[in-house]
Amino acid sequence: MPTNDFFAAARSFALSGPTRSPEDVTVFQCEYVAASPKGVAPVAFGFVCEPGSDDWRETILTASDWARGWEDVTPDSPTTPERPHRRPLGDAEDVAMVFADMLDAAELIWPQTLVMYHGNLPDYRALYFADVCVCPSCASENRQAYTLRSQDGIPVLDHVGRESITPARIL
Ligand SMILES: [Zn+2]
Repeated sequence: MPTNDFFAAARSFALSGPTRSPEDVTVFQCEYVAASPKGVAPVAFGFVCEPGSDDWRETILTASDWARGWEDVTPDSPTTPERPHRRPLGDAEDVAMVFADMLDAAELIWPQTLVMYHGNLPDYRALYFADVCVCPSCASENRQAYTLRSQDGIPVLDHVGRESITPARIL
């Protein structure tokens, strides 16, 4: 339950009456809070529902109203989505799986991944092993670029952009 020093926009507040029974509660739905042009004291605009009534009427509440002991009763929705459950890491295989998930999520390519080249050099369209291109040019431009090697490890194409290759999924 947040602690407030005044009403707050888009929140609901309850004020218990003298009997303290659940029926003896005034509810104020605050729409917004503003200060008058000449004053610094904030006023709260909204709708109030008195005990025993199911009508909401418009009202303006001030600091002296706030001092009567309103309680913020806004149902709080979770502000952070639940994280998907991850089981604890048990061994190296688990760690590798997590990294693989991360790389898949970022669409990065593992070193030595078998990839299909489908860029704008039709004669080169084939399967290669991809490594990150470490030439000064790609590094300085911070490009996500790759060197494609043949199965013998011979570099065939350098500076290949990520969009030109797709990991080959071998099932
Ligand atoms: Zn390069």
